[in-house]
Amino acid sequence: MNQRIEGIGMTSRRTRERMIARLKELGISHSELLRVMLETPRHLFVEEALQSRAYEDTALPIGFNQTISQPYIVARMTELLLEWGPLDKVLEVGTGSGYQTAILAQLAKRVHSVERIYPLQQRARRCLQDLKLRNVRLKHSDGGWGWEEYAPYDAILVAAAPSEIPETLLAQMGRRSIMIIPVGQGRTQILHRVTRTEVSLEVEEIEPVNFVPFLPGVL
Ligand code: SAH
Repeated sequence: MNQRIEGIGMTSRRTRERMIARLKELGISHSELLRVMLETPRHLFVEEALQSRAYEDTALPIGFNQTISQPYIVARMTELLLEWGPLDKVLEVGTGSGYQTAILAQLAKRVHSVERIYPLQQRARRCLQDLKLRNVRLKHSDGGWGWEEYAPYDAILVAAAPSEIPETLLAQMGRRSIMIIPVGQGRTQILHRVTRTEVSLEVEEIEPVNFVPFLPGVL
């Protein structure tokens, strides 16, 4: 790997190792996930002025009023998906910086990700290309419509909070599938896990979270 991707100083391996130690303290235990998060250069997904903070366990601004998700949240949501089973085809709603997409791409066979803000999507595309992650398809659209063309999905991960679970996304879940989605408004959002089997559809509350709102239309 070249030095830009490998990182130096505040983006070095030692700094990343501290982030992983923090995730373990918070209860993340999936070893392959932790390895992928150690290896993935989160600093590439934020602007240069913020790169020294890229391995702190916090959300950071990425422009357009949006944020790159907090590492713990990325880890938690991904771990919930992995606990459910092997990930074949995943839909992500809210590509944002592309960081969560990059993590998923290394743990799933294929990732389809939609983003409503075009410049963010373009930036994410460049980062994912730099990391040579080729099992990712990106689309500029309102994720309220899901991505019908490739449905059904084994797993859906939503990175913005709607006030209720969109029916369209439920309809794009496969026969045995999982969706992780924050639901609620303002400061009262709860992460939800929806699991579907041949005979049941279960919705569980996981924990309080703080996401940007799920908004309609495209920019
Ligand atoms: N996981 C991303 C999170 C970005 S923030 C990261 O770590 O970078 C959530 C993203 O969801 C924002 O980029 C926002 O523009 C996008 N978003 C919000 N509502 C959306 C919708 N209806 N369809 C697609 N993307 C949406």
